[in-house]
Amino acid sequence: MVNASTPLDPRRTTPMSTHVHVRLADDLAVTEDGDLVERYRCGCGATWTRVHRAEEGRPEG
Ligand SMILES: [Zn+2]
Repeated sequence: MVNASTPLDPRRTTPMSTHVHVRLADDLAVTEDGDLVERYRCGCGATWTRVHRAEEGRPEG
C-alpha cells in the first residue's frame, strides 16, 4: 500500500528564511604551514570553514 496521504513533516515545510543553521563538526585537517582547518556542515547542506593560524597567539622566541 502506497502512503498517498502522509501528513507533511512541519520541520520540512519550514521556510529557509527561518532556518537556523546547526554547525556540526565535519572535518579537521592541518595544512603544510601548521594551520588548523575546521570544517562544519549543517543538515541543509551549508558548510563553513574556520582556519586557526598557527602563527597567531604564539609569542616569538
Ligand atoms: Zn542549515
